Amino acid sequence: MNDYQKEQSETLAMVHRHFIALSSSEKEMLQGKAEDYLSFRKDTNTFLSCHFSEVCTEKCYQSHVSACCSKDGIITFFADVAINVLMSQDEEAEALMQVLRKPNNGFKCIYLGSDGCILRIKPIVCEMFLCDQAKEKVFGKNSLLREEWKDLEQRKKRYTWPDRPVLFDELEQYFIDAGYSSPLMYMHNSPGLLRVKQLSQSGSAR
Ligand code: SF4
Repeated sequence: MNDYQKEQSETLAMVHRHFIALSSSEKEMLQGKAEDYLSFRKDTNTFLSCHFSEVCTEKCYQSHVSACCSKDGIITFFADVAINVLMSQDEEAEALMQVLRKPNNGFKCIYLGSDGCILRIKPIVCEMFLCDQAKEKVFGKNSLLREEWKDLEQRKKRYTWPDRPVLFDELEQYFIDAGYSSPLMYMHNSPGLLRVKQLSQSGSAR
């Protein structure tokens, strides 16, 4: 198990352990907090399926040159893991932990299975990644679609960019308050993101 897998595996196991011990009302409260974000993810997914699925299938899956999932580790926020586990069945979380225990010798993401990503809710970095070629092909002659995509990118910030209270920060804080810590808690350990928070508190980040 490499360092990336270890970090992912430990965080996933920790979150899973915590959720198993929660009362159903507390779990529902957390699912309620994620509702708006999940609706944003649904809209993003619909946009990508409508406008990019053909281009991506042709460019990446048929020609086998996919750049999207070919790295052995992708940036995953703590909230990506938490939301994924929150929305998964126990068996799914356990299956992920088993995958993470296996050696990853290929030049591809550990979560890439034969039918695509095995995560129920992909990390936000993956969901919002569009290669330049695909963007050019889809947005090249359609500025309205480009604007729609920009709107989705702005919406993403409402959950992930801590110049205001955001879900990704809130979920980390919830787990910190419960006594946990993880290297994936970038909202609390990334100097860049801490600076964004600091600036917003002093009123000069937006
Ligand atoms: S997490 Fe899923 S979408 Fe992201 S790189 Fe890995 S396989 Fe691809």
